[in-house]
Amino acid sequence: MAPAPGPTVAALGRALGDGRTTSVAATRACLAQAAATTALGAFLHLDAEGALAQAEAADQRRRRSEARGPLDGVPLALKDNLAVAGLPLTCGSRLLDGYVVPYDATVTAALRQGGAVLLGKTSLDEFGMGSSTERCAFGPARNPWAEDRVPGGSSGGSAVAVACGAAAAALGSDTGGSLRQPAAFCGLVGLKPTYGRVSRYGLVALASSLDQVGPLTHDVTDAALVLQAIAGFDERDSTSAAREVPDYLAELETGVEGLRLGVPREYRGALDPAVQAAVADALDRYRQLGAEVVEVSLPHTAYAVACYYVLCTAEASSNLARYDGVRYGRRGDAPTLAGMYRATRSRGFGAEVKRRILLGTFALSAGYYDAYYQTAQRVRTLIADDFARALSDVDLLLTPTTPTTAFRLGEKTVDPLAMYLGDVFTVGASLAGLPALSLPWGRDADGLPIGVQLIAGAWQEALLLRAARAGERRGDG
Ligand code: GLN
Repeated sequence: MAPAPGPTVAALGRALGDGRTTSVAATRACLAQAAATTALGAFLHLDAEGALAQAEAADQRRRRSEARGPLDGVPLALKDNLAVAGLPLTCGSRLLDGYVVPYDATVTAALRQGGAVLLGKTSLDEFGMGSSTERCAFGPARNPWAEDRVPGGSSGGSAVAVACGAAAAALGSDTGGSLRQPAAFCGLVGLKPTYGRVSRYGLVALASSLDQVGPLTHDVTDAALVLQAIAGFDERDSTSAAREVPDYLAELETGVEGLRLGVPREYRGALDPAVQAAVADALDRYRQLGAEVVEVSLPHTAYAVACYYVLCTAEASSNLARYDGVRYGRRGDAPTLAGMYRATRSRGFGAEVKRRILLGTFALSAGYYDAYYQTAQRVRTLIADDFARALSDVDLLLTPTTPTTAFRLGEKTVDPLAMYLGDVFTVGASLAGLPALSLPWGRDADGLPIGVQLIAGAWQEALLLRAARAGERRGDG
C-alpha cells in the first residue's frame, strides 16, 4: 500500500552534481511515474515536451559547469492555480477550461531562475475551495496510500505527485491549510510560510489576506531548499515583505535543545486516537531531544473555523467577481449582458464555489456586514493575539495537523460543514499569518500517514524548519 517515492530534491541534486544521473533521466523517470499513476489524478496538465527541453538545457549547463544551484535540473510540479507562461491555468474549474496564461507567477520565475524543470500543473479543489481535491471539476485525486481515500486538499494533486515519485517536490498554496492537510494525509512535509514571505503575484486569489504559496516535499531539508528559492520581496505583490531572506539551511541541523514547545490546551478536542498518540509520541521525542514542553492556551480557538469561513468566503466572493465571461475562460452565450454573466457563472462554477460566493456575498451585504464580516475581523484579531501571547512564552507550538487521517472519497462531500470542521487545527495559523509546517509522524492502524503541526512566530521559518528537522526520524530520507 505504500507509494513508491522518488528521490528527494537534495538527493537528486547530489546525484546530478556528481554525474550519477542527468536531468533528462530524472525528468523521464517522473514522467513515467506520472503516466503509471494517472488513475490517482495528480496532474491536470503535463508538459512533457517543455520539461524535457528544460532538462536538456539543465544538463548542458552542468556540462559547462554553470549549474545554478540546488534546484538546477530538478523536476518539480506546480498547483494549477499558479501561473506558468504558455501552460493552461484552470484552477480546477470549468470556467477556466482552455485558458492559457501568458505570464509566469513570481514563484514560477524564481524556480526557472534556479534551473528547475517544470513538469506541469497539479489538481486542486476548484479555486482552492476544499480539503479533499474532490471538488476539482475534472475529477477527484486519490490518496496513493489507499486509493479509496482522499489525498487531502486543496493542494491534493501536488501532494500525490510528490508522494508517488512523479515530481521531486511541488508548490501548492495554503489559505486555511491546503499545504499542511494534504501533506499530513500523504506522508509529506507541507510548509505554509509567514504571510508576506512569498510573493502571491501569479497565484490565483482565493482569499487574499490568507493565501500563501509554499512547498510540498518528502522531507524538511527539501522544504528549506524550495522555500529558499521562492521567498523574498516582490514589488509586484504589495503584501510581500521587504525583509531579508535568511539562509534556511544554515541552522537546519542545530537541534532543539533548550527550546520551549507549547501545546495548546484547546487543541485536545475530538481527535482520532492514532493522531492523539502521534502527538504524544512527538512530544516525547522533542523532550528527549532536549526541548521543554509546556501547556499554553489559545482561548479563542472555538471561533477559528467560523471566523475563517466568514472571511474566506467574503474575500472569495469579491475575488471571483472577475470571472464574468468577458476576460477569462469559457463564456456562456446569451442575448443580453446580464444573461451572459449568468450563463457563464452558473455553468462555469461548481457547487462549492457557488455556495461560497453566496455565503460571502451575504456576509458582505448591507445589514449583515457588521454582524458577520466585521465581527469575524474582530475575532481574527483576538485569535492573532492568542498566538502572539502564547508565542511570547514559548518558541513554537506543536499541534495535530488534522483531527483524523485521510477520509474516504465521498465521505464528506454531502456535508460541507463536516469538511470545514476538519480545518480546525490549520486555520488558526492562517488567520494569524504565522508560518506552520506539517511533519509526517507515523501511521495509523490502516497504514495511513499522520501529520503533526509546528507553528512559529512570524518570520521564524528558520526556527520552524530546524525544529522539524530535529523531529524528523533520521534515515527516513
Ligand atoms: N480547506 C480550506 C477551505 O476549504 C482551506 C483551503 C485552502 O487552504 N486553499 O477553504
